[in-house]
Amino acid sequence: MKAMLLEHPGRPLRLADIPRPVPGPGELLLQVKACAVCRTDLHVVDGELPDPSLPLVPGHEIVGVVIEAGPGATRFAPGTRVGVPWLGWTCGTCSFCRSGAENLCAAARFTGYTRHGGYAEYTVADQRYCFALPDSYDDVHAAPLLCAGLISHRAYRMATERAPGDGVTRLGLYGFGAAAHLLAQVAVSEGRSVYAFTRPGDTPAQAHARGLGAVWAGGSDHAPPEPLDAAILFAPVGALVPAALRVVRPGGVVVCAGIHMSDIPAFPYSLLWQERVVRSVANLTREDGEAFLAHAARTPLRVDAVPYRLEDANAALDDLREGRVQGAAVLVPGL
Ligand SMILES: [Zn+2]
Ligand SMILES: [Zn+2]
Repeated sequence: MKAMLLEHPGRPLRLADIPRPVPGPGELLLQVKACAVCRTDLHVVDGELPDPSLPLVPGHEIVGVVIEAGPGATRFAPGTRVGVPWLGWTCGTCSFCRSGAENLCAAARFTGYTRHGGYAEYTVADQRYCFALPDSYDDVHAAPLLCAGLISHRAYRMATERAPGDGVTRLGLYGFGAAAHLLAQVAVSEGRSVYAFTRPGDTPAQAHARGLGAVWAGGSDHAPPEPLDAAILFAPVGALVPAALRVVRPGGVVVCAGIHMSDIPAFPYSLLWQERVVRSVANLTREDGEAFLAHAARTPLRVDAVPYRLEDANAALDDLREGRVQGAAVLVPGL
């Protein structure tokens, strides 16, 4: 099969011909229909995350059709369309797994990082970590739901669940890419006001945000017109942490949603004082995925997706790195 391989972090992926994988016990062989490109893929490819399994097929927002089931894999029949997310396997027995926090399992394996992902014509996945997908999204538009959608939904829950005062009405989103463009719609559908912060001067991204219902959009160097109740940081820029704390009201939370971020500069304690909270969100649980996909089935989301040929994965990564993609880049084998 054709696959885009990461052999040396920091260098481009190489188009390779490798054997089609064979599903083991409990695994499914999937024909990849679409695989979205996530900012985390950039961190993996650029060597910013430690110890990827090399050589590696990246990609963890996979829409695939079951071609063959391994021994004991009866959850999805051949021909079924499923989604494969970042969380690829957990131990099931550690204290985190037993307490509903499998996202923190120290033995967890991650799709497109410590196991092969979807930048290929075929992949295998553990059936227990696959999701059924709503029929209302075609392959290209379902793929971004699998990380941009569901990890941002976990961050959204963290941002909105703890709110002394009148709750979270005004929500800031820093970095208006694939994740924010979906989450903004979820927040607006639940009656919240979205404030979108982009790279300074990125007026197309600001227009994109307003088009999806943001009440305000501006550069991350600008203050919003009123204090925010909470903010979520998708941009991997540590300097945005104090910037967001500065515009969040007492008791508000700033959630860092990315897997990697540049160093956070020192800032005065007064920005954190008054019970403001800074926290990160790591990975996802299967429960997060089910909750988000149920929401996406109930409330149709507009998914802005830009298809690329599988062979053009490096171009897609470059476009994402340079902020040239409006919404999500999606690789489509056979395009
Ligand atoms: Zn575990
Ligand atoms: Zn991702």
